[in-house]
Amino acid sequence: MPLVLKCTTILPPFAVSRIRIRTSVSRARHLCGVGESRTMGQHSLMWFRKGLRLHDNPALHKACEDASHVFPVFVLDPFFLAPDPTAPSPGSRTAGVNRIHFLLQSLQDLDSSLKSRGSQLFLVHGNPTEVIPELLEKWSIKRLCFEHDTEPYAQDRDKRIKEICEERGIELHSPVSHTLFNPAETILKNGGKPPLTYQAFCRTLGKPPKPVGDAPAAIPEPSKDLMDVDVVPIPSLQDLGYADLNEEFTPFGGGETEGLRRLDKMLADKKWVAEFEKPKGNPTAFIKPATTCLSPYLKFGCVSVRLFYARLLTVYSEMKKHSHPPVSLEGQLLWREFFYTVGYGTINYDRMVGNPICRQIPWKDDEVLLSRWRDGQTGFPWIDAAMIQLRKWGWMHHLARHAVACFLTRGDLFVYWEKGRDVFDRLLVDSDWAINNGNWMWLSASAFFAQYHRIYSPITFAKKHDPEGNYIKHFIPVLKDMPKAYIYEPWTAPLSVQKAANCIIGKDYPKPVVDHAIANKKCRDRMGAAFALNKAAGSGQPTQEQVNALNEKLTAKLDEDSDASIAAESSDGEPPPSPKPKPKSKRQRTLTEYKKK
Ligand SMILES: Cc1cc2nc3c(=O)[nH]c(=O)nc-3n(C[C@H](O)[C@H](O)[C@H](O)COP(=O)(O)OP(=O)(O)OC[C@H]3O[C@@H](n4cnc5c(N)ncnc54)[C@H](O)[C@@H]3O)c2cc1C
Repeated sequence: MPLVLKCTTILPPFAVSRIRIRTSVSRARHLCGVGESRTMGQHSLMWFRKGLRLHDNPALHKACEDASHVFPVFVLDPFFLAPDPTAPSPGSRTAGVNRIHFLLQSLQDLDSSLKSRGSQLFLVHGNPTEVIPELLEKWSIKRLCFEHDTEPYAQDRDKRIKEICEERGIELHSPVSHTLFNPAETILKNGGKPPLTYQAFCRTLGKPPKPVGDAPAAIPEPSKDLMDVDVVPIPSLQDLGYADLNEEFTPFGGGETEGLRRLDKMLADKKWVAEFEKPKGNPTAFIKPATTCLSPYLKFGCVSVRLFYARLLTVYSEMKKHSHPPVSLEGQLLWREFFYTVGYGTINYDRMVGNPICRQIPWKDDEVLLSRWRDGQTGFPWIDAAMIQLRKWGWMHHLARHAVACFLTRGDLFVYWEKGRDVFDRLLVDSDWAINNGNWMWLSASAFFAQYHRIYSPITFAKKHDPEGNYIKHFIPVLKDMPKAYIYEPWTAPLSVQKAANCIIGKDYPKPVVDHAIANKKCRDRMGAAFALNKAAGSGQPTQEQVNALNEKLTAKLDEDSDASIAAESSDGEPPPSPKPKPKSKRQRTLTEYKKK
């Protein structure tokens, strides 16, 4: 009769009754620290968090070294996984359902790979700072291994675990393998401060360490003499309390096997790899996206960035010429490193206030504008299609991220970058603390980038890549019959055209939330004033009182100046009046006239 060993001191807030480690009564005594288990060989616990892979996993190598038993564990942390019915789309408070699904698939794959080497993955759930110490005790662990993690949540968590290991005399190994370089070492090399430009960052770099290769072919089994462990199933989304995915959802299957397959496929096209240049590439390509789409695999560590990098250099060495950083694929991986380093070395990196590298800008806290943007209801089809792709796929092309982030902040809506960051953070499958915050600061011209007057037009930017509007038509089916002349500005279509397309603007698809020309002018004025305020503060930063005072002054002045103010500034939820259509170009007129005939 198996005994359920509750490894959780916290009761799960979601329905995973099966996620418990089961053992027999007689064995349970050993698990509670009684008897021979303490006198047996070395017991190691390999704690998987990111780094969900067997290749290039130095923590796993260390766990296996001289070990009689290795216990591979993943903790299902309710902080990330508990369903939040009040969230604007399915998922937990912190993660959309796509990312949770990707994680579960990755765990499934990891479990299969471990099984093929005589081991298996144990899932427990609860707060890791409570669960892991319990397991260390119950399994008489002498060595704990996990991959080093630089995110603040992980740093706090791991600090607590390290203290417990020290108190109990447990060996702890936490090697760096989620990044090419150790951010702390890069910062030291740079005189104790993170380099704030890509060029300065690249100057600090030597060669990254090589990947350590595959895990041992036989991983010391967890527990044969010690306990019977029931096969512990990986939960499904339903087990976690989520409904099934019935909408179009992420095309990226989770896991190391799939990640390596994609890496192989991508690297096999050597010409494409050698010629890769960003920002070239079509952000509206969705059947065959223009970039590698490896970000979800790098985020969860299903693919090692060190392996990716090493194999990339091999391809370069086989080609006569290739592109170079910052635009090359190597350059993209170095951008990742750059943001990891700055994120690690900057206090309050994920907020404006108290963040020494972030300009203090009087953004608006406007929930109506924010929700129109988040829900793909701005009335600008290119922006809305990208936001719908984000919700459905948990991914969008880099330049689509640029466009929507610019639109929300300095381009049109002037909403806090932190609010947009939160939406990305929750919905992206590849959501990554260091990269996401860094790029939001960049796009909002809060840090790294200062040319705030250079904006992405929500109307013309994507048109050159996709004049037919196929991307829009795919993600916003209600616009599928809108003629191409109007697909980027459907509010300018005559009513007869809207009727013929079965899409009345203001009824079937929203009117634009702002008049872009006016909103953008106001944003630029606000940015100019904010830049001047920050400049006047010299090496310091303006105080929040100064920023608030500027906000009041600008709001009074700029809103008076314009009768077509940003509609949702009133936050009354009413759609704005439809902006007057611009005079049509000759070509548009001809098309319309032709259609009338
Ligand atoms: C506002 C905004 C938010 C972003 N948030 C994230 C995020 O949360 N997670 C994330 O992984 N990327 C983020 N990015 C960066 C970039 O858009 C994605 O990494 C990229 O689009 C992922 O697709 P890919 O794997 O096909 O990229 P590729 O172009 O194939 O690049 C390969 C890898 O290089 C890295 N990389 C590429 N571009 C960047 C960049 N600008 N900064 C840092 N690393 C980069 C990624 O790890 C990526 O997987 C964000 C960009 C913007 C503008």
